Amino acid sequence: MGKCKFNVSWLEDVRFRGWLASVANPEQARCIPCKSTFKLGTMGIKAVVSHMQSQKHKTSARSHTQTPAISTFCISATAADGPRC
Ligand SMILES: [Zn+2]
Repeated sequence: MGKCKFNVSWLEDVRFRGWLASVANPEQARCIPCKSTFKLGTMGIKAVVSHMQSQKHKTSARSHTQTPAISTFCISATAADGPRC
């Protein structure tokens, strides 16, 4: 009662795309770079925006985009074509 549920359309939102994920509990959402799950509570999308604007998230998101996983993948994926990356 009064609790907000996860809305899958948020996953298409340009602000949340790439880091927001749904969890089994529809009253919660998951942040991929923060590796954390947060409650939507009564705020719903505002809880998502609030998380996005938190310092913790900004720090996590920054290190997440700098993760070497992508370039490592890129090198191995294109190894046959030479070191283009
Ligand atoms: Zn986060």
